[in-house]
Amino acid sequence: MYYKKALAILLVLPLIMGVNMKEPAKVMKIKIFDASTGKAEEVEKVYKTNEEWKKILTPEQYRVTRLKGTEMPFIGQCPLPPKGGAGIYQCVSCGTDLFRYETKFESGTGWPSFWEPVSELNIKLVTDNSLGAQRVEVLCARCDAHLGHVFDDGPAPTGKRYCINAAALKLVVTMSKNTAKNVETATFGAGCFWGVEAVFRKVKGVLDAKVGFMGGNFENPTYEDVCSDKTGHAEVVQIEYDPKVISYQELLDIFWDIHDPTTPNRQGPDVGSQYRSVIFYHNAEQERLARASKEKLEKSGKLKSPIATEIVPAKKFYKAEDYHQRYFEKQGIEPVCHLPGKFRKK
Ligand SMILES: [Zn+2]
Repeated sequence: MYYKKALAILLVLPLIMGVNMKEPAKVMKIKIFDASTGKAEEVEKVYKTNEEWKKILTPEQYRVTRLKGTEMPFIGQCPLPPKGGAGIYQCVSCGTDLFRYETKFESGTGWPSFWEPVSELNIKLVTDNSLGAQRVEVLCARCDAHLGHVFDDGPAPTGKRYCINAAALKLVVTMSKNTAKNVETATFGAGCFWGVEAVFRKVKGVLDAKVGFMGGNFENPTYEDVCSDKTGHAEVVQIEYDPKVISYQELLDIFWDIHDPTTPNRQGPDVGSQYRSVIFYHNAEQERLARASKEKLEKSGKLKSPIATEIVPAKKFYKAEDYHQRYFEKQGIEPVCHLPGKFRKK
């Protein structure tokens, strides 16, 4: 019995020791900041042997990050996100978020320069006395990759210049929702919305058009409410378009062309404030273009009377009932109410 116990302990001992004797560094946990979630998270530090690093890094990446090399200035290729996009530069060795593209600046040194890291958590600063000068070395906090140095001659707001080797970085491109989809919104009121929707739906670059109401003082209006002419809402078409295919200016040209902008609160046989001619702009640029195009049309002499069109900021869009959407399409009718050029002087 006693021998059995001793034997069991002898067998188990190496297992226990195996666990305890693991190098403590290998399970060391640190907190780093994840730029995509905006949260600090606990992660394990990354350790690899030189042979393991050589397998996943190019010779230049290995020389810079693992052997503390410095690349030649103006040689390193620092990728940039496409215009309008944003990006995060990560550690080429372990993928830790290091610098945001917005904090990159042109320092003239020939190395990628940033004025701020993603988080103090993600980098490690170490005094470096090599080259006969005291400098501060910048390392990746998670894998100890050598990144570069930091100096006190950077721009506001931090005054820091993180001088980083391009070989130590990889770019992850992030896009805002609208930039990625490349969709913008325009909203027009030009009389009965059935016909206006039918025209814009056929325009190349228009991704979607919905009929609804805007500009009143009444929550969730129904078609009947709006037709009472007491809600203040206008019948509008809300357009989603791809500005790379069609510009806001071109949409304005169509808007002016398909209705009579000179009759206040009226479009042909339809009378009431819900039929008013109105441009609901979604940003300052739309407002500028709308006002300029109104002025241009006014001066052109092509209209019989002054323009009555309102140009006002967009308010909440209330989508009309489903049976109003694609109305003419559903009825199999070719609309004649909003024909291009119909209202111009002959
Ligand atoms: Zn790293």
